[in-house]
Amino acid sequence: MSLKNKRVSTKKKILCLLLALVCAFSVAAPCYAPTASAQESLEDLRNQIDDLENEIIEDNKALQEVQDDIKTNEQKLNSLNKQLDKISKQVDLIMDSISILNDDIDDLQNDIDLLQAKINETDTQITEIEIQIGETEFLMDSTREVLLARIRENYMSGEASTVELLLTSGDLSTFFARKELITRVSENDAKLITELTDKINELAELQTELEAKKTTLEESKAEFDVQMDNLSERQTELEDSKKAQQQKQSDAAEKYREVENIISELDKDSEEYKKQIKRKEAEREALEAEIDAIIKAEGSQVGDIPDEEYENDGELGWPLKERCTITAGYPYYPSGGRHWGIDICLCTKSGSTRDSNGNSLSYGEPYYAAQGGEVIIADWHSSFGNYVVVDHGDGKQTLYAHSKSLNVKKGDIVKKGQQLGLMGDTGNVTGPHLHFEVRIKKADGSVNRVNPLDYVSKPSYVI
Ligand SMILES: [Zn+2]
Repeated sequence: MSLKNKRVSTKKKILCLLLALVCAFSVAAPCYAPTASAQESLEDLRNQIDDLENEIIEDNKALQEVQDDIKTNEQKLNSLNKQLDKISKQVDLIMDSISILNDDIDDLQNDIDLLQAKINETDTQITEIEIQIGETEFLMDSTREVLLARIRENYMSGEASTVELLLTSGDLSTFFARKELITRVSENDAKLITELTDKINELAELQTELEAKKTTLEESKAEFDVQMDNLSERQTELEDSKKAQQQKQSDAAEKYREVENIISELDKDSEEYKKQIKRKEAEREALEAEIDAIIKAEGSQVGDIPDEEYENDGELGWPLKERCTITAGYPYYPSGGRHWGIDICLCTKSGSTRDSNGNSLSYGEPYYAAQGGEVIIADWHSSFGNYVVVDHGDGKQTLYAHSKSLNVKKGDIVKKGQQLGLMGDTGNVTGPHLHFEVRIKKADGSVNRVNPLDYVSKPSYVI
């Protein structure tokens, strides 16, 4: 990885520089004026810090891109989820419809089965009636034969004209209508014929009724069959629709898995960048400490320079003279990152750091030296932007960062409350503000980055 190689080579360079510095300072007596080689080393160190800062900024940008990507993909995932929910609901609705339809089809099929059973029963009844009619007709034919034989006997005994009349009758009803002939038939015969005729009529009536019933049943069945066809058609449609929705569901689920995989890959990238940034920040911290080492070598110690020289009152003052507020405190940012100073912004009565048009109240506004002293750094740093470090002669140093512009240069002697520069948004910032640090060089030579609020009391206009 190129970043890693770069980092390693940067680290080597820094180590060499550190060695050089250690050698340079271990032989130099603790004196206030820096040696030429120390100056050079300081410059080199600053350049190394700048390189690292730039790398961190680039990595942060890459991390931001990855995180934006994750956000976009998470939004995709969200929308896919919604889509999946919607499809699932549709599938459920279709399943419900299919279930209801299947119940309807079952009910209808039962009705059809019942009707068919009735039709079959009626058919059996009709067949039975037909058999009975056949048997009765056979009986009647036999009876007629007997009658005819008897009449033929009468004819032989000489009642020719009547017999002739009888024999020419076309059918049974004509035959029986002839009243005069009935008198010739025995009463028993006549009774039998009447009974058989009644029976045939009765059976024929029953047959007609059964045929009518069968027709009605068949009509009903035909209607049910049409309904059944409609329901089956609807069932096919619903099954097709279910298949289509299930296809959509599986497509969406597939897409969901793909996006999940992308997010998981991006998460890995993000973790990698975070680790990289952490490593570089640790390196930057090490280099910051080296700046402290320079302060150790060049900065004052308690009692080095009497207060009178810088007309100091021995107390650090507030670096702003107008209503302001602390937007980020020491020693951590609200987001959790390490913060070695406090961030201060000018603000309105209600504490807003912007005016009604949304413009920063701090941008381009002056800030002031907390105490008199000598400007030991007035430079640019990719993290701090334009920044100033003032050594106050009593072991305290104050640092002012992110300036739009500086009013002082290295080596200048400033008085307490003197304007050092204008607040701005240079370096690594999210908006214009003053980053203010206090560093203390102790009697043992160590340098601490302390909480400024332990050394500077907040005036009443700080809200
Ligand atoms: Zn800050």
